[in-house]
Amino acid sequence: MARYTGPVCKLCRREGEKLFLKGTRCYSPKCPFERKRGYPPGEHGWTARFRRRRQSDYALQLREKQKAKRIYGMLERQMRRFYREATRLSGVTGENLLALLERRLDNVVYRMGFADSRAQARQLVAHGHFFVNGRRVKAPSYIAKPEDEISVRPASRKRTYFKNRADTLDKTAVVDWLSLDGPEMTGRVLRVPAREELDSTLNDQLIVEYYSR
Ligand code: SF4
Repeated sequence: MARYTGPVCKLCRREGEKLFLKGTRCYSPKCPFERKRGYPPGEHGWTARFRRRRQSDYALQLREKQKAKRIYGMLERQMRRFYREATRLSGVTGENLLALLERRLDNVVYRMGFADSRAQARQLVAHGHFFVNGRRVKAPSYIAKPEDEISVRPASRKRTYFKNRADTLDKTAVVDWLSLDGPEMTGRVLRVPAREELDSTLNDQLIVEYYSR
């Protein structure tokens, strides 16, 4: 189960916007994107902000695809697999792709408020703290289906992390396509998210254009 293990904040600076990959730190003054005023990483990053170059269509498509990959913590092969899966489904491929990404188990756990970031959610899932429909699932890439019940493993509820989390879960406002019972530490997938419920900062059309070249 490969994953990106390099510096994370650089990715935000590369994409020129905050991707919120580090949980609470992203909302604090410690965020390097704020401190470094968002200039690109690398030796010439500081001067690059003075250069104004028109981006080619390919560059726009590539950047959008990279942004989606980084937000959801995917590697290229996984992303291509998701794209192929999205093309097989009926409907608009770009919307299918974003809906598939959004239904990844680590993202669902993050959206329900069990973790501060997708990376943290991924680790919790990989360490076996979650049940799907009463069975332990350790694959963060599991695609949650409508009616799936996601719950914290009973043995894990006694852990300090989840005990502390229980207080904040009550106040968590989850997205419309999910439901959450905070005290029971259980949530449910109500339906496949519609386009307007997906990340509005991502242009799915550009991602599809990149992969269908
Ligand atoms: Fe991006 Fe968060 Fe790092 Fe800020 S703290 S640069 S938003 S990952």
